[in-house]
Amino acid sequence: MAKKQFKAESKRLLDMMIHSIYTHKEIFLRELISNASDAIDKRYYAAMQKGGEGMDRSDYFIRLTPSESTRTLTITDNGCGMTEKELEEDLGTIAKSGTLAFKQAMDKPEEGKSAPEMDVIGQFGVGFYSAFMVAKNIKVYSRTEDGEGHVWESDGQDGYTVKPFDYPTVGTQIVLTLKDDEEGEDYSQYLREYTLTSLVKKYSDYVRYPIRMMEEKRVPKGEKEEGKPQEYETVMEDVVLNSMVPLWKRAKSEVTEEEYNRFYRDNFFDMDDPLSVIRVSVEGAVSYTALLFIPKKAPWDFFTKGYKRGLKLYSSGVMIMDACEDLLPDYFGFVKGLVDSPDLSLNISREMLQHDRQLKAIANNLKKKIQAELKKMLESDREKYETFYKAFSQSIKFGVYDQYGMNADFLKDLLLFHSAREEKEVTLHEYVAAMKEDQKAIYYAAGDSLSHCLGLPQAELIRDKGYDLLCLTDDVDEFALRVLGSYEEKPFKAATDDDLGLASAEEKKAMEEKAAESKDLLEKIKADLDGKVKEVKLSDRLTKSVACLNGEGGVSIEMYKVLKAMPNAGDIPMDFVLELNPNHPVFAKLSTLSDEDRKQYAELLYQQARLMAGLPLDDPAAFSELVCKLM
Ligand code: ADP
Repeated sequence: MAKKQFKAESKRLLDMMIHSIYTHKEIFLRELISNASDAIDKRYYAAMQKGGEGMDRSDYFIRLTPSESTRTLTITDNGCGMTEKELEEDLGTIAKSGTLAFKQAMDKPEEGKSAPEMDVIGQFGVGFYSAFMVAKNIKVYSRTEDGEGHVWESDGQDGYTVKPFDYPTVGTQIVLTLKDDEEGEDYSQYLREYTLTSLVKKYSDYVRYPIRMMEEKRVPKGEKEEGKPQEYETVMEDVVLNSMVPLWKRAKSEVTEEEYNRFYRDNFFDMDDPLSVIRVSVEGAVSYTALLFIPKKAPWDFFTKGYKRGLKLYSSGVMIMDACEDLLPDYFGFVKGLVDSPDLSLNISREMLQHDRQLKAIANNLKKKIQAELKKMLESDREKYETFYKAFSQSIKFGVYDQYGMNADFLKDLLLFHSAREEKEVTLHEYVAAMKEDQKAIYYAAGDSLSHCLGLPQAELIRDKGYDLLCLTDDVDEFALRVLGSYEEKPFKAATDDDLGLASAEEKKAMEEKAAESKDLLEKIKADLDGKVKEVKLSDRLTKSVACLNGEGGVSIEMYKVLKAMPNAGDIPMDFVLELNPNHPVFAKLSTLSDEDRKQYAELLYQQARLMAGLPLDDPAAFSELVCKLM
């Protein structure tokens, strides 16, 4: 019988499969098992429609049979089988979207990547053809319920044949003759029990029908005789490789905490148990189950580019993607877990997923569930929440600040900051609830450390008035609060802001008068400082300290430091304002000094204010010399 040629498209795809240096060749097994499972589904449902006579659900199976002697791996199912026409049409042509998407991805690689590099390939069903990545010859024996048996055979490129064959049962048997091993390619591994078992566990553990394999087992032979060592023999045992019912499909009450913990540790490579487990089950326009975990600690690579964010994606128990990023917003990137939906097709590519409305709906719902779970934890188990916050507060704060605060409202109640008065972490709500009656704003101080914040001269008046002060020690903190702007209608105010709004009208007036009196002196000090500051003015917020340094306009010194530390920051313009405490004895002394002495005092005050602001001295040696001189 003459060989038939593959359709042009299929030929090209086949060619790519055969020559693929694609590293995930192992997925061929997932593909063949999925096809088998689909075929069983078809037969099962057809039987149900006819009244459910004949076979029981438990009669269905998929069997793997490796054979070293023939170098074949055989995959057998008792599904619906294929007619001659179906063998021709389904295996002779690119069948479905998945295979097609694979081909398109290979033809048109993502920018900057060569085709085989793309991990995108592993993400979607590549179908029956993928078997040619590992096999040099494939035979497919098949028979349908009311048809004759046939065998389809191909060595790959040079076409295929279909012949009648007396296949004894309904179903399909695929015999792969594996390619010869070559350098870097161990095809023989697909004959080993160990590899097959772990591949089934990895990709097809939750396929709904048993995946069986005969395994060699060593068992005791006969009764142990006195004085003789126990003898053993090797027997073949029929084993089911897959667990079939996923943990997340079992009733909530049936799964123990330890089972969840072990599942998490095994699947997400964490030594610790998760902090929290979230189970979501939705029936509706899009049905899905999700099992999410909040880890206790950030993985070591969490803050690097190498960290793989996303949830595993399953379609009816078959894993189709290892880390689907589109299911999680960046700020919840620490969440681990999976989503299983029968509404997602197995053959779905990453690009298609990005535009998938169902996926967006799932992601949107999950994000709300995660937020709710964290809120619940914050309210019911503060200590646990603090453990979480210690590990992942950066993500939450970054989420508040990112995208111009688009998600700030959604995340604001998850924030905690150190309270100077309470000497512990508080929520914004707790801060506002404990505000004094006359207090109008939420005050904060930003600094490198807690002691820096607590010692900030600018906050003296705020704390003297008995107002609480939030201490912001993370780079992103102040940016996050500025994006929020206010909380429960109370504006945020930095201790270093130009006007704290604390002075009464009378106090203001008195200050203005004092400023007018000191105008000359302040001008002189500014000149003494030789362009280092834009302005020298009297301060109404210092109670103990003599001087402090601020940034002019909206940019605080803390934000200036953060921006300056960024790579390629370049020159960031910053105008400093030196504030002096008119009630301090040193200030009174300034007007009595000679021009020369005043210049030295001015320099000392300025450098000291720099230190208090967490800025380096301009010239440490000169500063030290000056201090000694004045002593
Ligand atoms: P896809 O799975 O994307 O449809 P495949 O190339 O894997 O593409 O398979 C093509 C078609 O061949 C399937 O849709 C199915 O109709 C048929 N097929 C493959 N394997 C089997 C099988 N074990 N039993 C019955 N039909 C099968």
